[in-house]
Amino acid sequence: MEKVVPSRQLELLVMEETGQPLNRCYQCHKCSGGCPLTEAMDFMPHQIVRYIQLGLEKELLKSSSIWLCTACRTCISRCPNGIDIAVLSDFLKQRAIAKAIKPALPEVEIFHQAFLASLKSKGRVHELGMMMIYKFKSRKFFQDIFPLGLKMLSRNKLRLLPEGVKDYKRFRALLQAEKEGQP
Ligand code: SF4
Ligand code: SF4
Repeated sequence: MEKVVPSRQLELLVMEETGQPLNRCYQCHKCSGGCPLTEAMDFMPHQIVRYIQLGLEKELLKSSSIWLCTACRTCISRCPNGIDIAVLSDFLKQRAIAKAIKPALPEVEIFHQAFLASLKSKGRVHELGMMMIYKFKSRKFFQDIFPLGLKMLSRNKLRLLPEGVKDYKRFRALLQAEKEGQP
């Protein structure tokens, strides 16, 4: 069996980019014990941290877990070291996209991209617009339209036109600063 030689490069990069104290993780498994999605995940939350510590990036970027995480934050509420796995999942998602790695769950990736595109355009998510992007890209044109989508429209739960944030200039400046890696 091939011996795994830990490389701290990935761990240090993730710690710097996400601010998560991964070096404090002692694999107590409390995060996985509370996560509602472990049954569907290929890597459990504590394993995500361990794989980062071991520098096994390729495996993580191909995993379904990073796309399944719903950012419910149960894990951080249980972690004795305050490690937020949802933040790690977001970081790994963005890295998989940047490296053009085929997502384990393509529909979730399309939804994720549609959500971000909608948020970036106005500073607030426009659900109807986001759903249209999702449907167009996933080619699931009629899924959930009958009766759920129509019911929501009839109850004014979906705004027809997008609404932006008040201080859009500031929002753009924040996005730009984030892109340039400024605090
Ligand atoms: S709960 Fe925290 S310390 Fe324990 S395994 Fe999970 S991330 Fe590591
Ligand atoms: S935030 Fe993600 S990893 Fe953490 S408990 Fe929720 S689904 Fe699981």
